[in-house]
Amino acid sequence: MFITVHAVAGAAIGATTGNPILAFIAGFISHLILDMIPHGDETISKWKLFKTVRRRIAAAAFIDFVGVMVMLVFIINNASLALLPGILAGMAGGIAPDALWGFHELTGTPLLSWYRKWHSKGHDLITKKKISMKKGFIVQLPLLVLLLWLVVRAT
Ligand SMILES: [Zn+2]
Repeated sequence: MFITVHAVAGAAIGATTGNPILAFIAGFISHLILDMIPHGDETISKWKLFKTVRRRIAAAAFIDFVGVMVMLVFIINNASLALLPGILAGMAGGIAPDALWGFHELTGTPLLSWYRKWHSKGHDLITKKKISMKKGFIVQLPLLVLLLWLVVRAT
């Protein structure tokens, strides 16, 4: 799932709980649960727009970074100051699983090999069926709007 969706899920959790530690942990767990929903990101490595897998991942990460920044600015402008620590912690928790995964992809460190396998296995817990990126957008966009609505409602 796009990191933007994970970040907004974490923000919704943070806005609802108001507790930064709880928000981080629940944001982390929400990431793993959302990743079980078929979401089309698996096809990024086959994206024909860029020649190497590393460039495809970097491009997707950049687009996602912009998405997270847009959501962050929107949320900061709409949330009460008292809820911001929880929201930011929830967003960090929502992003952390893919940040760890991305760190492993970019560095190839054997320290996180177990985590990479574990994170990837989580994607197949409900179904091993993969969907196209187009269908992934159809799944993720309404989810993003719903989560954003939850954030706005809670703040
Ligand atoms: Zn993930």
